[in-house]
Amino acid sequence: MSLPYVNIHTHSNVCRYKTNSISVLNYSITDLSLPPTEPFSVGLHPWDVNEKWERDVVKAVTPYATLLECIAIGEIGLDYSRDISIPLQKSVFEKQLELASNYRMPVVLHVVKAYHDILRYQKSAQTTWILHAFKVNESYVKSFMHYDTYFSLGIREIIIAAQKGLLSAIPLNRLFLETDDSAHTIDEVYDCYISHSGHPLELVKKCIFANYCKVFNIE
Ligand SMILES: [Zn+2]
Repeated sequence: MSLPYVNIHTHSNVCRYKTNSISVLNYSITDLSLPPTEPFSVGLHPWDVNEKWERDVVKAVTPYATLLECIAIGEIGLDYSRDISIPLQKSVFEKQLELASNYRMPVVLHVVKAYHDILRYQKSAQTTWILHAFKVNESYVKSFMHYDTYFSLGIREIIIAAQKGLLSAIPLNRLFLETDDSAHTIDEVYDCYISHSGHPLELVKKCIFANYCKVFNIE
C-alpha cells in the first residue's frame, strides 16, 4: 500500500476527499464544540490573546492536552501584525510553551513579523517546533536548522517560495505540508509542491511520513 499523505495542520475535519491521509486537526480552546476524536493540536491562537486568557490559559489547555488524541500544542505563537499587546502575547505564549515542554509535546507555531523573537525562544526550547505557514526566508531557515524545527508550507507559501527561487532552501527532512484553513485538499498541496520542486511524489511522501513518525515517536 502506498504511504499516506500527511496534513500537519488543518482547521477542517471535513474529509471532502477520501484519500489515504493523516491529519492533525487544530482545536482552539475558544472553540465550543467537543474536542476531536482524531489526532489534534490544542492551544490559544495569538489572535485570541487577552488578559482573561493570560490568567486562564494553562487551566483551559491542560484538560485537552492530556487527552489521548492530543499530539501537539498549537497553534500558538506571536503575531506582530495584529493590534494585540506584545508583552501579553509573549506571556501567553511562554505559558503554553512551558505546558508543551511539561507534556513533551511538539508545538505548532503561528508567527507573523516575529521570527527574530521566536528564534530567541527556540534557543531554550525543550521540544520540537513546527513553523506553520512558513514564509520561506533563507537566513531564518539556516538559523532554525540548528534546532529541532520543521517548516510547514501550504499552497500560498509554496508558490511564493518558488517564485523567489527559495523552495529548495528547506531540506526534505525538515518539511511538512498543510491545508490550514484553505479549501484545498492535502493531495493538491502535495501536487503543488512536486510541480514546483521537481521532486517525485513518492520521495516527498516518504520523507514527510518519516518526519511525521520522527516528530510523534511512531515506530
Ligand atoms: Zn491555522
